Amino acid sequence: MSDIWKDLNELQPIVLKMITNSLTKDRVAHAYLFEGDPGTGKKKTAFYFAKSLLCEEAGDRPCNECSNCRRIDSGNHPDVHMVEPDGLSIKKQQIVYLQQEFSKTAVESNRKIYIINHADKMTASAANSLLKFLEEPAADTVALLLTEQAQRMLPTILSRCQLLSFKSLPPALLKNKLIEKEVSLPMAALVSRLTNNFEEAFRLGTEEWFAQSRKIVLKLYEVLLKNPLEAMVKLQEDFNGHFKDKQQVSVALDLLLLLFKDLLSIQTGEEQGLAYPDQLALLKNTALHSSIVNTTEQITAILEAKRKLDANMNPQLLMEQLVLKLQGGASFV
Ligand SMILES: [Zn+2]
Repeated sequence: MSDIWKDLNELQPIVLKMITNSLTKDRVAHAYLFEGDPGTGKKKTAFYFAKSLLCEEAGDRPCNECSNCRRIDSGNHPDVHMVEPDGLSIKKQQIVYLQQEFSKTAVESNRKIYIINHADKMTASAANSLLKFLEEPAADTVALLLTEQAQRMLPTILSRCQLLSFKSLPPALLKNKLIEKEVSLPMAALVSRLTNNFEEAFRLGTEEWFAQSRKIVLKLYEVLLKNPLEAMVKLQEDFNGHFKDKQQVSVALDLLLLLFKDLLSIQTGEEQGLAYPDQLALLKNTALHSSIVNTTEQITAILEAKRKLDANMNPQLLMEQLVLKLQGGASFV
């Protein structure tokens, strides 16, 4: 648990600094809005903040050892309340219940903290109840509202909160975190280019179907280079059996796109941050025999295929057209 500070300092250094400042200068606001994509550490930060406020040890970081810290970690502290959507929304009764709890003085500490996760999912009447609550804050109350979509929230609520923006994880940092969790380097490099959400990246990076997808796309690419005329056969043999529906073909197109983007990076002299670092030799060899103009055309063809897929074109037909276009681009080899 003692790594939380280190994790947050790596993940959200600016947010952490702002929180630490408000604590050390004793300028804690009544309400905060944590806004950012899934997986950016909003909930973790909310618990870190609650612990910092209630920790029995003096200091600008929570000790993670005292009774308050431990009860917050296990979700059992009487002065820390968490509200989550009940089904699809946060209902008025949930906010009313919260207000009743907060009308009592703090049970044990001199502060009470409430965390509303997915605050944008409040119904209109729940949001109005909360607004009244925010308009007359008790001196000892701190509200932490968490959302992925601040634009969906009432402006009157937003204007009463101090906004803290959570930045998405940069691919290099996400890649390293995945490797720490024993995802292989090739998989970590690839999935960290597809998403900036750690949980999703970890799921993809350890999924058999996805590992197989990567292999099949690489095979198709190699055939396109070496025996372009066989690419259509390869498509029918391996590809169509594995990438069956629209969503799966969309993954395949993303994987193919990243491969050609890697090629373009190498052609322009950039070898850092590749999605396929283990294919460097193959890509370098291809780069020797191809031009930037060609690669750009191939990338355009893949992007065009992605648009057609979104417009519900038949995935098999679409892939056949794409392979013909990519063949044209590779025929100079
Ligand atoms: Zn503590």
